[in-house]
Order: sequence, then C-alpha cells, then structure tokens
Amino acid sequence: MKLLVINAGSSSLKYQLYDMTDESVLAKGLVERIGMDSSILTHKPTGKEDVTEVSEILEHTTAIRKVLDKLVDPECGVLKSVDEIQAVGHRVVHGGEAFKGSALVTGDVKSEIRRLFDLAPLHNPPAILGITAAEKNMPNVPQVVVFDTAFHQTMEEKVYLYPIPKVLYKKHHIRRYGMHGTSHDYVSKVAAEVVERPLEELKIITCHIGNGASLTAVQGGVSVDTSMGLTPLEGLMMGTRSGDVDPAVVTFVMNKEELSLSEVNSMLNKHSGLLAISGSSSDMRDITDGMEAGEPNATLAFEMYEYRLRKYIGSYAAAMNGVDVIVFTAGVGENSAVVREKVCENLTYLGVELDPELNKVRSGDPRRISTPNSKVDVLVIPTNEELVIARDTFRIVQENK
Ligand code: AMP
Repeated sequence: MKLLVINAGSSSLKYQLYDMTDESVLAKGLVERIGMDSSILTHKPTGKEDVTEVSEILEHTTAIRKVLDKLVDPECGVLKSVDEIQAVGHRVVHGGEAFKGSALVTGDVKSEIRRLFDLAPLHNPPAILGITAAEKNMPNVPQVVVFDTAFHQTMEEKVYLYPIPKVLYKKHHIRRYGMHGTSHDYVSKVAAEVVERPLEELKIITCHIGNGASLTAVQGGVSVDTSMGLTPLEGLMMGTRSGDVDPAVVTFVMNKEELSLSEVNSMLNKHSGLLAISGSSSDMRDITDGMEAGEPNATLAFEMYEYRLRKYIGSYAAAMNGVDVIVFTAGVGENSAVVREKVCENLTYLGVELDPELNKVRSGDPRRISTPNSKVDVLVIPTNEELVIARDTFRIVQENK
C-alpha cells in the first residue's frame, strides 16, 4: 500500500509518500508560504534530483494538487497515477480527551477536532485545512488523523490535573495533555530494541528537544508524565518559549507593562527562552558557538537550558522511582553533543556514565552513548514522527476494510 503523510501548518504543508510494503519513503517535500504571492514547493523524490518551484499557491487545496502533480510528473514523479495512493495520514496536534489513539476521519471526527480549536488555536485549524484539501483532491481515499496528545492519554488523574478550581477542568477541560506524543512513543519503542529488553519492564525518560521541547516518563511502554501541559508552553526552556515560570509572572507583567492577553502570550511563546536570555538567537548552534567564544549571555542561556533539563530528568526519575534508559532526540537532542555531555555530567548520582567518544559520533542511526558500566543506558535515537503516522494510518485503514 502507498500512502501519503501530511503535516499541515497555517502557511506550510510537509508531505512524505510511503510504500508500506517495506516502509520506504518514495518522495517527500514541503510547500512554504501558502497564501502569499511567491509560494515555494520543494519536492524530493528518492533517487532523483530535487525540484524547487515558485508559484502562487493561495490555499491548501491548491498546495495538495501541486504536490500530487509532482508525484505523477514524468520527470520528477514516483507514481504512474494518483490512484496508487490508497490512504492519507494527517498529523493533528491536539486530540483533547476525545482521542486516545489515531482515528479514521469522519464528519464527527472533524467536528471534534474543530471543537478543540480553543485548546490549540495555532495548530488544529491548519490540520482541518489539510484534511479538507486532501478530501477534495482524493475524494475516495480514506483519511486518518494521528494526534500529538494521544500517547499521553494514559496519564493518571493525579498527574494530569492542575491544582486549580476543579470547575475549570469540568467547564473548559483545563488539564495537562502533553505534546510530541508520536515522537516519545516511537523513540521509547526503538530504545527497547536497542537495549534488547522488553518495553514492558523499562523505565525510560525520553527527551524530545528541538525548537519545541518536552520530556516524557515512559513506564512499561506508556506515558506516565510529560512536561508540556494544556499547551506546548509548559515545561522546559525552549528556543523562544519560556517553559515553566511562576504563573503570577503573567498577571504581574500584564499589570506593570500594560500588556494585552495576546501581547503576553506572544512574549512567553515567541520572545522568551534561549532567544530572550542570549539576546541574539533561539538556535542552540548559535548558543554553543557564543559560549565557546566566551559570550556571557550565550553562556547563561546554555546554563539555564541545561539546568532546567537536568532538573526535569531528576523529577521523572523520582516519579518512576528509577530510570533504566534516557533517550535524546530531535534537533538539539540528536545533534548537540555538548548539551548531552553537560546534562549527563551531573546525573552521576543516578549511575549515568557517558562515553565521551561515543557521544561525539555523528550518525543518523540509533546508538548508545553510555559506557558498558553505566547503570542507565543513554541513547541517541533520531525521531521519525512521519513513520509513526504512516504505520498508524496503515493499521487503521486495514482494520476498517
Ligand atoms: P527540530 O525542532 O527538532 O527540527 O529542532 C530544530 C533545532 O535543533 C534548531 O533550532 C537548533 O536549535 C537545533 N539544532 C539543529 N542542529 C544542531 C546542532 N548541530 N547542534 C545544536 N543544535 C542543533
């Protein structure tokens, strides 16, 4: 079966075409600047030259049509006909409490995703645009939705509730949901394979640290706690997001600086984190370069980032009464040896012993970076959220045949 995975943003659309007979990627690409006059389509067919095309793409339906044109193009295409695509899988950020797993798209499913717009105003509306656009272009092809939040629906009430008036949970569904679920799910399963132990008996801390960052405590293969909350703002310090702050900071700043709701929201989501402390960049590469050059603000940004990450690892080891495996993944986790080194340097009390040489190895494969004596296996595992979406889509379409 060939299937298309779609990750739609408000002005962008990423895609990957899979052949599920061997889970190979036949082509992938990205449409950027949808709704603007010079939209860019970058198409990367496996084994052929990449193609970049600039044109006017005003909305998602046209974006998907252009992608389908590229997939069947005699030069850069990988399919004879669009009919070869037998299913489409969509990434959806917020599934609320309604979705504990992936689902076949129906009218009710779309209504439920729309009902959740309030909880993910930046992310769920574009997902609906992507689904509708795919339905228009491929009306008879089954569509499946895969949620970032679903993996975390196993958290207990004592973990997901906030200690605020309970009526707010009843009325507005305010609770911890967590994000990056497909990534935490995927890397924890690969981790069990790498350490050659059953997932059911492992306590794993998965550190998904990229532009957005979240940690998950995975015990027996299920999420028992995660650092993102109602929204992707809670938890770790990130590129431009603050992560945890005293909630009173929000009202205090609004009062003193006379900020509106959207201004304070923008401050915490777009002008905080590494960017705010370094004063120059949200990118960990710039921060570590600045630190090596002795730049004090970059050094402070790095130290705060590492310290907060290490505190969360400690708290999840406490939550699970131990940890067998720590996994680093996503942009920073997969690429920054210095972040991994500094975090692990102060986890010796858990029995963590990093191998400095293995930590420096650059590879796209899952790998162990701890010594054979380390009481905790420390792994680097490249994440693959698209593959999780493809696998779930395949499974759900088979089940509903
Ligand atoms: P992601 O959101 O997973 O795509 O991660 C993107 C982030 O990964 C970038 O903003 C960088 O901060 C970080 N990153 C990518 N490559 C490196 C690298 N070689 N060293 C440190 N950080 C990196």
